[in-house]
Amino acid sequence: MKRFFSLFLGLFSLVANAQIDNVPQDYFKDPLDIPLVLSGTFGELRSNHFHAGLDIKTQGRQGLEVKASAKGFISRIKIQHYGYGKALYVQHPNGYTTVYGHLKKLAPKIEEYLKERQYNKESYEIELFPGASELQVEQGEVIAYSGNTGGSGGPHLHFEIRDGSQRPMNPEMFGIEIQDTRDPIVDGLFAYPIGEGAHVNNSANRQKLRLIPQNDGSYSTNAVEACGEIGFGISTVDQKSLAPNKNGVYKIEATLNGSPVMNLDFQRFSFAESRYLNFLIDYEYYSNHRKRVQKLFKESNNPLSIYNGVVNEGKLDIEDGLDYNYVVEVTDFKGNSKTIRIPIKGNFSGEITPKDDVKTDYFTNYNETFSIEENGIDIYIPKNALYYDTFLDIEFMGDTVKVHHDDVPLHKNMTIGFDVSDIPTEEKEKMFVARLNKYGRPSYSTTYKKPTRFTTGTRSFGEYTLVSDLNPPSVRPVNFYDGQWISGNSDLKVKISDDLSGIQSFRATVNGKWILMEYEYKNNTLTHDFSDGVVTETENDYKLIVTDNVGNATTYEAKFFRKN
Ligand SMILES: [Zn+2]
Repeated sequence: MKRFFSLFLGLFSLVANAQIDNVPQDYFKDPLDIPLVLSGTFGELRSNHFHAGLDIKTQGRQGLEVKASAKGFISRIKIQHYGYGKALYVQHPNGYTTVYGHLKKLAPKIEEYLKERQYNKESYEIELFPGASELQVEQGEVIAYSGNTGGSGGPHLHFEIRDGSQRPMNPEMFGIEIQDTRDPIVDGLFAYPIGEGAHVNNSANRQKLRLIPQNDGSYSTNAVEACGEIGFGISTVDQKSLAPNKNGVYKIEATLNGSPVMNLDFQRFSFAESRYLNFLIDYEYYSNHRKRVQKLFKESNNPLSIYNGVVNEGKLDIEDGLDYNYVVEVTDFKGNSKTIRIPIKGNFSGEITPKDDVKTDYFTNYNETFSIEENGIDIYIPKNALYYDTFLDIEFMGDTVKVHHDDVPLHKNMTIGFDVSDIPTEEKEKMFVARLNKYGRPSYSTTYKKPTRFTTGTRSFGEYTLVSDLNPPSVRPVNFYDGQWISGNSDLKVKISDDLSGIQSFRATVNGKWILMEYEYKNNTLTHDFSDGVVTETENDYKLIVTDNVGNATTYEAKFFRKN
């Protein structure tokens, strides 16, 4: 009866998450004129998120023409130090939006529109939402030049197609063509005992299975002996034809004795759910081995929408004395696939290696809040910040607190507070909450200061303490010196850095007037482009104030001369 019921539920969820219809074909054209070679695919598993678009390689260069994928208007311009760097959003008449990220520069009319507003706001970072009539673009019109700005590891264009609800969709579904004749690669397979008393190969712990290559290109494994509720996990990547990059796959399906039990694919997701990637993967394995194993079963509190048909949450009930065939098929967008066959023998075992779980004094349910205070340090974990009921490992060590381990993910911020009422005011001003890495090196954790209590919100477990930053940022001119004639320079470059709490802000002026300096954190460089046309005098007083996260400031001043 139970099995029948769960099969019914499975069919129901298959209907509930029907395939996405009416995806326009040939509406969107390639945003670059070069053959599309990818360094990242849609849905690819990244740090704390699914990749929302295609990363298109730009042949190691910057400055390639980026073209509007279809006609529309520039609906959003977002310029930030991190993330997508300089990014453009084009809204199309059919309701979809395309996104272009890590740009070096925008096309002249858009660049002019942007700079006017950056100068008004006196800020490099800015977000604008132009109206439908302001910056209209035709399909194929050059809207920008490709770059490497923001959180980009090399020159490329990040390209997205979003639906009317701003959910990113797989651009390949729209006919954006990526050559691919290679099969997905499977490089890890694991079995997980889940239920109380369940075992795999006589153990209650995760078991790595050996993949045995078959003549037809598929894999099989040795028979898995198991009993009770179990599940599987797979490490798999896809390679496209024109690049060696290890990208994400499109679809994973699992069947038990020929009946579907789990089906997930990367057609569309929402940004709000993206962090649940940490719930899809075996996070503990990832944090210790840097390899992402996708679980082929889901917990009931996992809300990801990438699942199509899930029977009994993808978990298998293995009964003593019965044989089963579990088959996993991994498919890329072009339909190249890899199959793994796993024979399972139901075998009740008396002797089971117990779970490695460590029990502590601090047990918490994932759906309840947790709080504790000792030594003037308080910890608050909101409900549903954890994915699982957890024995927390917490240790108060003088001014430092260890809050569990970083191989357990947090979905929401926890709060850590430090009582600072006994610390003299001048000392307090230079202090911040720091996270200590495994070598004890501190890094700034965004610190909220009240007279008697400093707090931080963080999604990383680990050691936290208060640290003082007494040194102001360093400032070093790159292509000029005080008193120099620099008529030949097209720009003004300065390097800025801070050794401990990090750069909080900077402000540059020439003859008292604010000038735009673009900040590239990857090489610690500020750049002013003289073509902005705001430096018009021959003799110029340059002033730059750089402030760190506890308010230490460095003022750098220099005179330069320029013939315009
Ligand atoms: Zn990207």
